[in-house]
Amino acid sequence: MTLAQTLDELVTANRILAREGVVDSFGHVSIRHPDRPERYLLSRARAPECIEADDLLEFALDGTPIDPAGRTPYAERFIHGAVYHARPDVRAVVHHHSPSVIPFGVTGAPLSPVMHMCAGIGARVPTWDSRTRFGDTNLLVTNAAMAADLAAALGERPVILMRGHGCVVAGASLREVIFNSIYLQLNADLQMKAHPLGPVTFLSDGEVAAVLRTRGAFTYERAWEFWCRRAGRPYQARPMEGPHH
Ligand SMILES: [Zn+2]
Repeated sequence: MTLAQTLDELVTANRILAREGVVDSFGHVSIRHPDRPERYLLSRARAPECIEADDLLEFALDGTPIDPAGRTPYAERFIHGAVYHARPDVRAVVHHHSPSVIPFGVTGAPLSPVMHMCAGIGARVPTWDSRTRFGDTNLLVTNAAMAADLAAALGERPVILMRGHGCVVAGASLREVIFNSIYLQLNADLQMKAHPLGPVTFLSDGEVAAVLRTRGAFTYERAWEFWCRRAGRPYQARPMEGPHH
């Protein structure tokens, strides 16, 4: 895949997140640079639905834009570099403020998979509270110190909530982080629906592991094609491997 095609997929990822209601005017998605692992690609500060290829910028992991040419970067771009620095396995990162996840971050209520499709969020989603180490702030992660603290709290997990703010989703591919962002939102909604009906039975750790063990690239591919169609974006097939569900 050429760099131009990779950038085009990043535009598509932005449009999908907007179409599926995961982001509104805010929130962003990045990919690690395919040829330079010490850099990442992220849009200038713009609503995801509006992003075009010309909006995409290259950043050093410390958040410095390489060639901004007058384009204003996101104030919270530091989140992305900190996760790429801490996690060599991560190739894509989403930061979003889905209203569905906010209640879990502010109450301490457990957020865990209630459905097989949502296993990718991890057996128990942790919450990071910026106030613990940084006191009263505007809650935005606008410097390297806050971003490093957030990335450390994420650890090896795929998702972390941010109290009173949103969440971070990290993964091995753009398709994976878009998939888990959308199913994170769905899982939060399903938990809110299930809770009034009675005690919730979550997937066990073993069930989560079994789902992920048998999930192949085809699962992400099938969902990506569907979401491309809904977002009105061209679909580029990728080579597939693993079980076909
Ligand atoms: Zn934010």
